[in-house]
Amino acid sequence: MLKGDSMGILEGKKGLVLGLANNKSIAWGVAQACHREGAELGFNYLGEQLEKRVRPLAEQVNATLIESMDVGNDAEMDAFFAKVEEKWGKIDFLVHSIAFANKDALRNPFSQASRADFQLAMDISAYSFIACAQRAAKIMNDGGSMVTMTYLGAERAVPGYGMMGVAKAALEASTRYLAQDLGQRGIRVNAVSAGPIRTLAASAVGDFKALMAKSARGSMLGRNVTQDEVGNTTAYLASDLSSGVSGEVHYVDAGFHVGAGDPGE
Ligand code: NAP
Repeated sequence: MLKGDSMGILEGKKGLVLGLANNKSIAWGVAQACHREGAELGFNYLGEQLEKRVRPLAEQVNATLIESMDVGNDAEMDAFFAKVEEKWGKIDFLVHSIAFANKDALRNPFSQASRADFQLAMDISAYSFIACAQRAAKIMNDGGSMVTMTYLGAERAVPGYGMMGVAKAALEASTRYLAQDLGQRGIRVNAVSAGPIRTLAASAVGDFKALMAKSARGSMLGRNVTQDEVGNTTAYLASDLSSGVSGEVHYVDAGFHVGAGDPGE
């Protein structure tokens, strides 16, 4: 290679980015970073209505695979991964950027959680990573990488995050156990714990504006993070540059979690 030439860190790799809803999504920051670093990308969308939003974005990053998949439905998941295998053969990385809880379940007191709301939040926000990982592993090259998105509410009681915090705790524990299982094949599994970013999913969290202000004030950098910063870290975790990292929860929160909280309180 000539001096000055630079190869992207994901050059020659194929990866799935699951959970792109719109251009505010964390998955959009991930997609742009992975595309810039040379990856060939595939996406899912949730139903026909959302295809209209996802397809134009996916095309901007030259996606070669855009297919429907509801992660709450095993048959749809099987069909999606069968299409990935048919089209691409093998994959190198998977990014899971999906969560869901009923809005009311997040607004009501946590102690009043219903069984149905709890099961739904756990299913879509935690189990779906296991369901994706087990299917992805079958078609993943040894030495591949899987990354999911989590939040500090997994380990601290963050007001307004209640049921999703419990689901994220399960997601982080699942990350460690998936890393243990799949490590035998050199596949690494990590989570990125992002600071608050204004997205569609975030709008379900009560008083998100206050949460963002508090996070900025209490962080080491005195500000919140961007979807691009989360995307860049995810691209590193998807790449061979992080070959010695697995089972990790990597914070991208401008240092909020190592501080004592909001000094303005
Ligand atoms: P987002 O743009 O709303 O992304 C959430 C995605 O999950 C959407 O694409 C949504 O699809 C998808 N989804 C929900 N139910 C699904 C299902 N049954 N099957 C397939 N896809 C489904 O919000 P985001 O903030 O970027 O969230 C991405 C991830 O980052 C989530 O895990 C979230 O918890 C995590 N995170 C977010 C923040 C933050 O402050 N924003 C901080 C830390 C971690 P539709 O929109 O099409 O329903």
